[in-house]
Amino acid sequence: MVLLETITVHRLLEKQLKKFKIIDIETSIDSDILKQVLGLVSEAYRDADADRYLLERSLKISSQELCLMNEAQKESYDCRLKAIIKAIPDLIFLNDEDGNFLEVFLSDDKDFNFVKDKLLRKCYQELFPEKLSTFFKTTIKTALQENRLIVIEYDLKMPEGVMFYEARIMPTGFFVDNKETVMVIARNITEAKTIEAKLHYTATHDDLTQLPNRPSFYKKLKKSIKHCKKNRCSGVLFFLDLDRFKEINDNLGHDIGDKLLIKVAKRLKKITQKKDVLARFGGDEFVLVVENISSHDEIIAIAEKIMHQFTTPFPVKKYQLDITSSMGISIFPQNANTPIHLIKQTDIAMYQAKALGKNNFHFFTEELAEKSYEEFNLEAQLKNALKNEEFHLVYQPQIRLKDKKMIGVEALIRWENKIFGTIPPMKFIPIAEKCGLIELITNWVIEEVCRQIKIWDNQGCEPFAIAINLSRKEIGKMDMFERITNIINQAGIPHHRIEFEMTESALLENISQAFKNIEKLRFSGFMVAIDDFGTGYSSLSNLKNFFFDKLKIDQTFVQEIGFDTGDEVIIKATIALAKSLNLKVIAEGVETQEQHDFLIKYGCDEVQGHFYSYPIKPEYINQTLYKKL
Ligand code: C2E
Ligand code: CA
Ligand code: CA
Repeated sequence: MVLLETITVHRLLEKQLKKFKIIDIETSIDSDILKQVLGLVSEAYRDADADRYLLERSLKISSQELCLMNEAQKESYDCRLKAIIKAIPDLIFLNDEDGNFLEVFLSDDKDFNFVKDKLLRKCYQELFPEKLSTFFKTTIKTALQENRLIVIEYDLKMPEGVMFYEARIMPTGFFVDNKETVMVIARNITEAKTIEAKLHYTATHDDLTQLPNRPSFYKKLKKSIKHCKKNRCSGVLFFLDLDRFKEINDNLGHDIGDKLLIKVAKRLKKITQKKDVLARFGGDEFVLVVENISSHDEIIAIAEKIMHQFTTPFPVKKYQLDITSSMGISIFPQNANTPIHLIKQTDIAMYQAKALGKNNFHFFTEELAEKSYEEFNLEAQLKNALKNEEFHLVYQPQIRLKDKKMIGVEALIRWENKIFGTIPPMKFIPIAEKCGLIELITNWVIEEVCRQIKIWDNQGCEPFAIAINLSRKEIGKMDMFERITNIINQAGIPHHRIEFEMTESALLENISQAFKNIEKLRFSGFMVAIDDFGTGYSSLSNLKNFFFDKLKIDQTFVQEIGFDTGDEVIIKATIALAKSLNLKVIAEGVETQEQHDFLIKYGCDEVQGHFYSYPIKPEYINQTLYKKL
């Protein structure tokens, strides 16, 4: 830098002046003007220097800032991408059309058992079993050809068990190395699949026994029928209903009932083969389908095996539950080729098994179907019988043996129908019980008896008791007492004029409620008799615990007098038993002098039967008749 007295020549200007040898500034410059010019130019250079410096600085700063900003942005983008990938529980990868892995995004390898790096630059054959890799490759091809998203599901055997996956394959629209590409999003759906499987299980299985439930059974039966039809073989449907299960439920509680059902299901399951279908049809009903049956004997062998399961009691808590079952059997596709028909047939056959004394099995037959068809028609007629006034009552006298006096009558219902003619009560009462008409019929009987009592009273008859039969379906009902007494009270008939007859087995339908009802009936002045004594489930404890007024010896015993000493012994013992319990004894179905005399000899109090009178119309009831005998 040169100082020209007061002027400092700018370094760059000095260099230029030296280079072009315009002035020798080292020596001296005479001209003041030149000095001033040099001073001004140097000044301008310095200004330019300052500007350039400023510019450079600011440029330097902004490029640094730009770098920083860029880095910050990149970092934030990476963070976000990472966050997104982390949030997506999926394995995302880019495949080319040959199934090579070009890019892999995976947040966490735990769901896939893959290490990200191991996938890169590999192809499906190297990673998956052959079948699955072919499946993937063909799906990728289809997705590319049809240019659409395809979703597939697949499973893989993993060390911790089978895992389920879903893969969404979507063409990207760009090429890598001249090959088309797809984006694949794979997701582990094992949990969803497990939940789905659980839901499916719940929807198709019975909660209690874990057997297939009714809807899933229908499906399986349908499939089985189809199979048998196609393969020209036979299948069999067994329909089981537990006998007297309701008693256990009512008397010991639903908890015990439920536990019993579980045990029954277990025993049945044990004797069935893997391909058989055992299901709970509902309540205490079980169904079993066995395919490829080759003979009748084979069916019987299975039926007997099932029945055998009920020969040993079922231990449930402190109880040893002795339960039997009744079973209907039908063969398909011979008898029917739809589930509904088959069920109906086995149901009919099962009811037949019950009617024949329970603890039994019965095959479906056409005759049974006809019988049930008749029942169906009877039921339809029965529904209108009350409205059409098709019922009437007949009365059968009951005679006191010591003085041959008629002390009462039993009201017996009769039904005259315009299509079926006279239908005996033994035939229509069970139908009325089944279809829920029995209470209306009993109500009608009671109203009719009350009306008749008034007629007899008005005729000046000496008062006698009228026995009314109650059905097994109503004795254990909660509202039974109120329902009956309302009718009788409304008619203004004194309670002691009416006696209710009920069979012992009827009491067992709901023993605790039956007990309460009988107590209430007797407490309010009605008489109660136990009907058909000696048949069914005669048990001393019932006689002791329930309070009855009268015991009716069943006619099947009476009719054996003179023929069967065993039955005679039973009659003698029953009379003695009744006396010891302070009960009156009446024998029904007395037809002959011999029966009559036998009953007198052994101390029977009363009799009822054709020997004295058939059941007759009320206008023929004549008290004086019997005194003469
Ligand atoms: P049940 O209560 O045992 O009635 C006695 C049955 O024996 C009556 O049959 C009667 O006609 C019949 N019988 C009477 N004496 C003799 C005889 O000497 N020999 C023979 N072989 N039979 C005799 P019915 O009237 O056909 O009634 C049958 C069953 O129907 C009754 O048996 C009873 O369980 C039921 N029933 C009848 N009327 C009614 C009713 O109004 N309500 C209900 N719930 N059931 C009724
Ligand atoms: Ca009776
Ligand atoms: Ca009877």
